[in-house]
Amino acid sequence: MRDQIDSSSLERDDKEYIWHPFTQMKDWLAGKPLVISEGFGSYLKDVEGNVYLDGVSSLWVTVHGHRRREIDEAIMAQVGKISHSTLLGLSNVPAIQLGKRLVQIAPPGLTKVFYSDSGSTSVEIALKMAFQYWQQRPDPRPKKTRFISFKNAAYHGDTIGSVSVGGIDLYHATYRPLLFPTVQVEAPYCYRCYKSLSYPECGMACLQDVESALDQHHHEVAGLIIEPMVQAAAGILVAPSGYLRAIRDLCSKYDVLMIADEVAVGFGRTGRMFACEHEDVRPDLMCVAKGITGGYLPLAATLTTDRIYEAFLGEVDENKTFYHGHTYTGNPVACAAAIANLDIFENDRTLEHLQPKIERLRTSLRRFWELEHVGDIRQCGFMVGIELVQDRAPKIPYPVRDKIGVRVIMEARKRGLIIRPLGDVIVILPHLSVSNDELDRIVEVVFESIRTVTE
Ligand SMILES: *Cc1c(COP(=O)(O)O)cnc(C)c1O
Repeated sequence: MRDQIDSSSLERDDKEYIWHPFTQMKDWLAGKPLVISEGFGSYLKDVEGNVYLDGVSSLWVTVHGHRRREIDEAIMAQVGKISHSTLLGLSNVPAIQLGKRLVQIAPPGLTKVFYSDSGSTSVEIALKMAFQYWQQRPDPRPKKTRFISFKNAAYHGDTIGSVSVGGIDLYHATYRPLLFPTVQVEAPYCYRCYKSLSYPECGMACLQDVESALDQHHHEVAGLIIEPMVQAAAGILVAPSGYLRAIRDLCSKYDVLMIADEVAVGFGRTGRMFACEHEDVRPDLMCVAKGITGGYLPLAATLTTDRIYEAFLGEVDENKTFYHGHTYTGNPVACAAAIANLDIFENDRTLEHLQPKIERLRTSLRRFWELEHVGDIRQCGFMVGIELVQDRAPKIPYPVRDKIGVRVIMEARKRGLIIRPLGDVIVILPHLSVSNDELDRIVEVVFESIRTVTE
């Protein structure tokens, strides 16, 4: 059957009306937009009827594939009841049910759920909660107002607060005059270690710098924010084993709240439901978004402990209330999708079935060392970053203007695979539901695309 959508007028109108995120529109206008009209399982289909494998989970959100019947049905059933009602002064059924489910699966100690609608807002909420907690807890510490964040690796969203705790100059430097200052420490990026050491002989010497920052500033620091296990947007930087645990211990030692940003790594992406589980870490605040609805609808949550929650209890004139809320907070349709997402994790035993696929991926990535411009291969569960370099031994990056990452993903597109790079890092982030054959095909296309562009 012929597609009823006229693809050329859509392309024209896209260029006429849409300003795309994180996109140099001059480049965009010179190219041909790929307009997606459908998805099913691991595949996307464009308006011209071409079918592609989705190798990046529609930017790190899709969990069990596109058009999962159970999530489709849960959304339709909820729409048949009510699509939105407010959590300001009222409650709703899916928001309550999901809150309970999230607390049941979250790391122990996280007992309260505050909803919002994007990863960025979930981070804003964590920052404001941490700040306000110290101001008004029974034994207040009003000087604890600052945050420790990771330079050159932190990405926590694009709103001003979350950019303030960000550390990727390319995205964040322009806005510096608008941002609040943080205490910045180096994140582990073992391939380009700022101390020129190598793991494990280094004994994670970078932790000493985190400890000195804490030692020097703890009296004025409210919290430390980190992505557990993987600093994702910085280039899928996988932390060395034991690092996260050590950060938790340091936060406890210096009485600083630990904020775990699980927006990218949560919901199975690293092979565990939450990345904190790898090192049995219990954060004081945890941000979740991206995969929470299975990749269907915008929803986010900030989870926290009784200790923090209770510091906000008081008479109304004590002004301890958390004055924060977004209009769509706890949207019932999004919460219904999220419950269906969690049901699939249980019914399909998703995480159990994921383990052999993680190993299969690990094995098939070894072959990439044959490609002389592959500098580093990083993997944590189903998150993979392949860093391309102009020269392997001195680890010399490609010139930015070469757009090497973009060229590789355009090559992959010709071969029927949609992926998106982070600079010179080629990212593979498949749906957890991907089949072995689909996974092999994704890896094969990435290999061929890198080879074609770099040789
Ligand atoms: C994507 C992301 C965010 C921001 O989420 P949005 O929904 O895009 O606002 C925050 N933190 C991390 C770790 C992310 O990957």
